[in-house]
Amino acid sequence: MTAPTIRTYVNPTCLICGTAGQVLHSGLKDRLFGAPGTWQLKQCPRPECGLVWPDPSPLTEDLGLAYQTYYTHVEPATGSAGLVYRLSKWAYWTGIRIPALLTGIYQERREFVQMFLRGRPPGRLFDAGCGDGQFLHLMKEHGWQGTGVDFDAAAIETGKKKYGVDLKVGDFQTVPIEESAFDAVTMSHVIEHVPDPLACLDKCRRLLKPGGRLVVSTPNVRSLGHQTFKAAWRGLEPPRHLHVFPHHLLGECARRAGLKVIRTGSTAVNADYIISATMAIANAPPGTSQIGGGWDARYALKAIAFQYREHFALRRNPDLGEEAFLIAER
Ligand SMILES: [Zn+2]
Repeated sequence: MTAPTIRTYVNPTCLICGTAGQVLHSGLKDRLFGAPGTWQLKQCPRPECGLVWPDPSPLTEDLGLAYQTYYTHVEPATGSAGLVYRLSKWAYWTGIRIPALLTGIYQERREFVQMFLRGRPPGRLFDAGCGDGQFLHLMKEHGWQGTGVDFDAAAIETGKKKYGVDLKVGDFQTVPIEESAFDAVTMSHVIEHVPDPLACLDKCRRLLKPGGRLVVSTPNVRSLGHQTFKAAWRGLEPPRHLHVFPHHLLGECARRAGLKVIRTGSTAVNADYIISATMAIANAPPGTSQIGGGWDARYALKAIAFQYREHFALRRNPDLGEEAFLIAER
């Protein structure tokens, strides 16, 4: 089956500040899920902005074509491959625990896994782009009452059976959800996929109760991984990532959406995962288009070394983490 073409539109200027973009990477293919097309990414040259986006960009009505073989949960479920995968993950997590504890990565990861909501009084939580609801399931153990929306119907079906949390299929920006109702809204690795990130943040604001907290995470365009691996960096993911941000720009977008910014920053807590996936892209034979983008055991040790380097470099330069985050309030 040949994949149909994703139609595009010319998109030469920065969505945030209107400046003409400069070519950052060109001739990019989807190495992860084999979506059709060859893509060029542009970057806003203003240092106080720095947004990255594809030009030409996929037409919104054709975006579905970029997700035809997309899966958000990479885990061989059965057979010996599944067993080897689970064993290598177990050995990995056991092995990294002590150095992670000693360096503070473990403690930082614990905060990040709970989207910085640890220590906040639990209440109603909305997770935009919730996948199978694993995060909401985790937060339920900490007293949060979760609701989630995701366009991936298979993930929602699995999650309903597995976790018994309140999940709906659809686009969270259009599915009917009660507004001014949530104590916290989380959005992990979603904002880079949406055509209009400002409208997306505005929707998050409207879902929150006054004083409610929004936490967003997304790939950080200024990360050490991007600087090192350039076009092979996992966080670019053409053509599904429509905007890749530096963390301060998330803050600017949140302010424009009427939110009060508490903090933005970047973190290396998942750099082991992101860099192993990046190394798999960088080392795949040319033309490979179904790498999947998950954690890759072959590069685990090199990726950990990279993660520690990044974790310590972050003390001098807070821009270098693989993931950017935003903490804001309505
Ligand atoms: Zn700009």
